[in-house]
Amino acid sequence: MSKRTGKQKDMTRLVHAGREPARQHGFVNTPIYRGSTVLFPTVAALEANDQDFTYGRLGTPTVRALEEAIAELEGGHRTWLTPSGLSAIVTALLAFVSAGDEILVADTVYRPNRRFCDNVLKRLGVKTIYYDPLVGAGIKDLITKKTRVVFTESPGSQTFEVQDIPAIVKAAHAAGAVVILDNTWATPLYFKPFAHGVDVSIQAATKYIVGHADAMLGAVTGTEQVSAAVAKVHEDLGLCTGPEDVYLGLRGLRSLGVRLERHQRSGLELARWLAERPEVARVIHPALPSDPGYALWKRDFTGASGLFSIVLKPVSEARLAAMLDGLSLFGMGYSWGGFESLILPFDPRAYRSATKWQVEGPALRLHIGLEDVDDLKADLDAGFARLNARG
Ligand SMILES: *Cc1c(COP(=O)(O)O)cnc(C)c1O
Repeated sequence: MSKRTGKQKDMTRLVHAGREPARQHGFVNTPIYRGSTVLFPTVAALEANDQDFTYGRLGTPTVRALEEAIAELEGGHRTWLTPSGLSAIVTALLAFVSAGDEILVADTVYRPNRRFCDNVLKRLGVKTIYYDPLVGAGIKDLITKKTRVVFTESPGSQTFEVQDIPAIVKAAHAAGAVVILDNTWATPLYFKPFAHGVDVSIQAATKYIVGHADAMLGAVTGTEQVSAAVAKVHEDLGLCTGPEDVYLGLRGLRSLGVRLERHQRSGLELARWLAERPEVARVIHPALPSDPGYALWKRDFTGASGLFSIVLKPVSEARLAAMLDGLSLFGMGYSWGGFESLILPFDPRAYRSATKWQVEGPALRLHIGLEDVDDLKADLDAGFARLNARG
């Protein structure tokens, strides 16, 4: 890209990465290319098969623009887009495992990631061993001659345990295993996976990169060493992404920096406010100094997004429902990373196997959107009033 210097800061990269207006008649944005067939001018060109684009499934200028931008921001060698965050996880895992292999997966990964391991990988003869995300360098005791992959997600889904990624990378690499990181919470802005030694980074771009709850998209980014393996599986699986969705990813990316600053600020303000509430037993937010993950977060991350959890003091289901059902700004629903605030009850006890979730009462995950923070407090305050009112 013409404006890349390698020294620019992320906020500048967000604006310029993956754009070449001179190639688009001066228009600022890379347009939506639709297409399957790409023509070759000669038999020689057809046989050489080395044009920038050869077939719609294998990429278009729109797809390449977002791939280049994400690779640059993550600090990786190459990015491949996938139709969802989950398909990015699947692609990354299938790039490395064969029948008879073992993989180590953090107990706190995104739940559908676990289902893929327990259903498909199991059927294909790959054994998954779940580990405590706080294992750190102790991961070496779990690594065997058969371990091909150590899968990490930091902080963990719903419960936000911060993993010691450099310690895990050191042990995994010493044994020849690949480290995959689901980097969705931090985004490429607040954690640099490749600077911390990770081999493959996943983004559920559906969340903060798209940022407006209007498209599904995933990204797999790898180092140069793993690129051939990921490229092959990505092609063999037949994955390709819809042009409008990719365009929405590019459009979302331009404002990712300013959106995240606001998500971070409002998230922290609400986390501190919630910590003072008598109804709240604890707040789980890695960027709060009281959080067990704070020291690692401070060492390795440069920011926090707007997603965290709280544990309430014991309360009946009916009272909790009265609180949640009546909220007017916080919506209830899956996914996060959009402009709107969301709240979701969760209970990981039914499916986690390597850790024990021991809490005082019901747990809620909050995504703090771009609304005015005082209005959000008022919505929750009224919710707590309903929670306290019913018998
Ligand atoms: C949502 C999510 C995914 C999956 O993304 P989809 O686009 O919904 O498939 C993967 N990892 C994490 C951490 C997520 O929160």
